[in-house]
Amino acid sequence: MSNITKQYFEQLDKQDSLAPLRQEFSLPESILYFNGNSLGAMPRGMTQRLQDFAEQEWGQQIVRGWVTQGWYQMPQRVGAKIASLIGAAADEVIVSDTTSVNIYKLAIAALDLKPERRKIITTSDIFPTDIYVLQGVSNTLPDRAELKMVESDQIIDAIDEQTALLVLSPVNYKTGELFDMAAVTAEAQKRGAMMLWDLSHSCGAHQVDLSGIGADFAVGCGYKFLNGGPGAPAYLYVAKRWQSEIQQPLTGWKGHANPFAMSPDYEPAEGITRMLCGTHPVIAMTCLEQAVDLFTTVDMAQVEIKSRQMGDLFIALAEQQCKEYGVTLLSPKESAKRGSQVSFQHAEGYAIVQALIAKNVICDFRAPDVVRFGITPLYQKYQDVWDAVAILTEILATESWQQQPSSPTSAVT
Ligand SMILES: *Cc1c(COP(=O)(O)O)cnc(C)c1O
Repeated sequence: MSNITKQYFEQLDKQDSLAPLRQEFSLPESILYFNGNSLGAMPRGMTQRLQDFAEQEWGQQIVRGWVTQGWYQMPQRVGAKIASLIGAAADEVIVSDTTSVNIYKLAIAALDLKPERRKIITTSDIFPTDIYVLQGVSNTLPDRAELKMVESDQIIDAIDEQTALLVLSPVNYKTGELFDMAAVTAEAQKRGAMMLWDLSHSCGAHQVDLSGIGADFAVGCGYKFLNGGPGAPAYLYVAKRWQSEIQQPLTGWKGHANPFAMSPDYEPAEGITRMLCGTHPVIAMTCLEQAVDLFTTVDMAQVEIKSRQMGDLFIALAEQQCKEYGVTLLSPKESAKRGSQVSFQHAEGYAIVQALIAKNVICDFRAPDVVRFGITPLYQKYQDVWDAVAILTEILATESWQQQPSSPTSAVT
């Protein structure tokens, strides 16, 4: 790739049909933001939206806002918007709680649907909250559930006639490696297990077609590629065919068929609404809706193409410039096998990330030695890749990372 010059990157930005979207985000000009896979950037319209919410909605309408401002239907309404990004029908997705809580709800629901089976399988390298929640399920219900963790390449072999549920993330959060969602779903179902996909690193990042692959369940978070803000609410998906059968354990009043009947008897609501528990955070959901609305005009195929191309270029440049400094590629080189991130390994990974952040390249470190660059085509420029690799190369060549701490000094990395 000797043709990759700075001019080439400028040219790509000029031709990029997604480029105008960058103006819809409020990003400090001084930084190169490669951490949208951890916390998405803030949509520019958010300041005004929050002010309007405070002054006109909450401030004026108070309790009437549930009806007059459409607060009550937000979980369904925002869920329907997210559904269009993951190939689901509008009434198959609802916004509620956190990803962790939604995994709990769906894991118990899966065990109920498969009463003769008790095994839950996941990978030992899945995002840890998935493991912790599933451990919680099996600790609370030792007679009904047993968690088994396997390596990614042993998933298919591990699904047996005892398996009730398989929980996977399509994208490995450290390496960026992608599962073949269609093939794994088909195999799990063929062996009689339910399949739960955690789309936290997928929705808004690459194409997902839940209907096309015949998925059962899915969950995902609102604050990474969806840009819903710190701690934004999460969503969950239940395929239509399971919705009338499914029972979830957190039977709060907002999942009741008629919450305001105030009946002492629980009766689940029709459809996806029964997956709700308590009252949703309207302010946080207002932010999420504002952010998700930016996707209305976006073609996810286009987003995926740009993401892959940016990743390919990042890898090509880093291989040319950084290899001699002990940086090795951890992500798959082939873009079809990679999510919207590029990860490298280096023994001094933590110090290198701190040195990058000190130079305004915002990326992150994942233990023990992973330097991670998230790619967010909605608001990143191709030139960001050129500039980031140039700064990374300088840090490595001058060893300026030596001035940084070699291991984490704060609670958040
Ligand atoms: C970010 C992430 C989560 C986060 O879960 P929360 O309950 O929102 O904190 C869960 N799973 C995966 C795969 C993630 O990447």
